[in-house]
Amino acid sequence: MSDRQEHDPVTYDKLELQSDCERCFGLCCVALPFAASADFAIDKDGGTPCPQLQTDFRCSIHNELRQQGMRGCTVYDCFGAGQAVSQITYGGRDWREYPHTAHEMFNVLPIMRQLHELLWYLHEALAMPAARSVHSELKEALAWTKSLTLLSPESLLQLDVDSHRAGVNELLLRTSEFVRDAARRNQSGGHTRQKIGGRGADLIGAKLKGADLRFANLRGAYLIAADLRNADLRSADLIGADFRDTDVRGANLTDCLFLTQAQLNAARGDASTVLPPGLSYPSHWIHNDER
Ligand code: SF4
Repeated sequence: MSDRQEHDPVTYDKLELQSDCERCFGLCCVALPFAASADFAIDKDGGTPCPQLQTDFRCSIHNELRQQGMRGCTVYDCFGAGQAVSQITYGGRDWREYPHTAHEMFNVLPIMRQLHELLWYLHEALAMPAARSVHSELKEALAWTKSLTLLSPESLLQLDVDSHRAGVNELLLRTSEFVRDAARRNQSGGHTRQKIGGRGADLIGAKLKGADLRFANLRGAYLIAADLRNADLRSADLIGADFRDTDVRGANLTDCLFLTQAQLNAARGDASTVLPPGLSYPSHWIHNDER
């Protein structure tokens, strides 16, 4: 850990929002169900350990998930909820040694994941200078959400997480509008752009090669298998957008809002895609290791 991280509580907290499978009891590999499909080679019920999960909670095919037909595992991100449930909520007591906790622990995971995802977005929002007029509200929401992650398992299971999420989402939406308005005002040229997108837009398979999508509101948009090659997505809001098989080769994602590593992992890109800081190139973009 660098000196800056040690003395910067915000940075340190954000590190806790990165999944750390070494400190998790393989919770996503047990708690979550999946169905045989293009994303998973097998069916599995929720609460049943995946056959690839070893006794040390490691995955036996971790380095070849895509080649083994388990692409869905590479696009799931718990935002650090797995290690939080394992090490904080349950104090390091795992479901194998304490089987009476298993069912409850598996139900707590998706609630914790939602809280951690909100924490990640709130950290992102706080890093946006153009949103400074809502920074105090963002900090309050961050502290409140963080406090919820420390609740007991019983309290977490009773939490109205949908209601909390709705409140935070309203704040994130206002943040997005401030930031995109500021970016739009600062744009050079000022030419008229085609209006594309909108919240929850159905853009499945859309042909948007080279499109100017700067400042677009693509919140929750369905971009599955869309062609976004060489598209300009600078300062576009991509929160919750479905990027499965979206072709972003050559696209410019600089300064886009709320894009996660899991979204990138689900997309198709290459070294010519321009990423925002803090996100990395998925290995399958570079090595083309799909089956
Ligand atoms: S294949 Fe590996 S990562 Fe995927 S669910 Fe099974 S154990 Fe977990």
